[in-house]
Amino acid sequence: MNRSCYVSHHCPQCGGEVVFDQEATGTRCRYCGAGLMITGTGATWLNFLIKPIISVRETAHEVTCIAMKNGWKPPLLRSVLPFYFPFYRTTGHALKWVSGRKAGLDMDKTLQERLLTRPVDLMRPAHTDLSPGLFSPGYRVQSLHLFLATRENGGKMPFAPIQRDKESHSKKMEEDFFDGMPDPGLKVTEERRFRLWEKNSILFFPFSLVEVREGTNVRLMLIDTVGGGLIRQLKHEEMEKLLDNLGLKESRSPGETRLKLAPLICPECAGELDPDPLVHLRFCRSCAKGWEARRGVLQERECLWAGDPDSREDPSTIFLPFWLRRGKEKSLFIPAFNVRSPRLLFNLSARYYHADFPARPIPYHNRMSLKPFPVGLPPDGADEMADVVAGTGSKKPFPRKGTSQSLVLVPFRRMGPDLVGPRGLAVPISSLGVKI
Ligand SMILES: [Zn+2]
Ligand SMILES: [Zn+2]
Repeated sequence: MNRSCYVSHHCPQCGGEVVFDQEATGTRCRYCGAGLMITGTGATWLNFLIKPIISVRETAHEVTCIAMKNGWKPPLLRSVLPFYFPFYRTTGHALKWVSGRKAGLDMDKTLQERLLTRPVDLMRPAHTDLSPGLFSPGYRVQSLHLFLATRENGGKMPFAPIQRDKESHSKKMEEDFFDGMPDPGLKVTEERRFRLWEKNSILFFPFSLVEVREGTNVRLMLIDTVGGGLIRQLKHEEMEKLLDNLGLKESRSPGETRLKLAPLICPECAGELDPDPLVHLRFCRSCAKGWEARRGVLQERECLWAGDPDSREDPSTIFLPFWLRRGKEKSLFIPAFNVRSPRLLFNLSARYYHADFPARPIPYHNRMSLKPFPVGLPPDGADEMADVVAGTGSKKPFPRKGTSQSLVLVPFRRMGPDLVGPRGLAVPISSLGVKI
């Protein structure tokens, strides 16, 4: 659901460049055709870098443009030092539940509830000795390719060391995550905040330290080597400090990263699994088992259904996946399919929370012909959504202890603009973001 960016990596089979969405769980190599599983993206604090677009050679031209724009004397380029500057990046969804009464002269004073949501993509400097001023790579990141921040991808450019710790960034995010939330239009008496599907990473952005001479003056500039342009001018001491920092041992490589690509092959029957990029559970068409990547390998996940083995196959029936936790008396269901907005997912989750769908093993002959709707929400994401439903007072919290999550495929029938489930509850087709 996040607006995301592209990541480049190498195919483990043929070494070709594989480019995939940052949120992807699978992809296909366009050179050798191998289906690939992406592991390690769930782990946070992966290191990425963006490669410079303006080369050292093109810097002179860029500097002339900056000088003209600012009305400076034509400068003489003395030195250019490209380097990577680290930013912490936090993405996710901010959810704010509020309760209150309408303000002003409105006569309606009944207590109202609102759920406010906002996608989050924030960046903050992780290096403190040199301030990038107000500069942040911001949303531009979403249109650029990311590479893993390895020595190989970084070339010879040094990395400015990370100086702020992750804890202080996370602490700051507690507030910043909710910046710019929409106005509820109520006089709020109660408020609850949720940080949903939060992911953190470190992004190294390419800057250049440029020294120019104008007559007898020396000017030091920090330049954005992706978009061009002056970030700010530096003092001599700032340059000295930066040069010290770039000479440190950690400036040579920001460390290992756990993101890996592995062939997508069924562990049971060695059949090929579908490399659909945004799916958290894959069905093997040959042996009909469900697989998901956990700790870097494919592991089986129990898959059940609420279908009837005797009913005729009907093309208007669509199986929607739900995550299920079974308790002693009640069960908890959270949609596992992707919907367009977290607000709608919240509404559906509250609606189906205690749905009593049957959950039975899928008979073998049905498994072979079953084409379920993609599982777009991982099980831990479903748990987070269950916490929001319980935390807003919509439902009682469901104890997770001693329960595990299974996937249940529930038959829905296409009726007008909705998919209608076994209990008459409907899911609007337009919200699914996929053509049916
Ligand atoms: Zn390949
Ligand atoms: Zn198989």
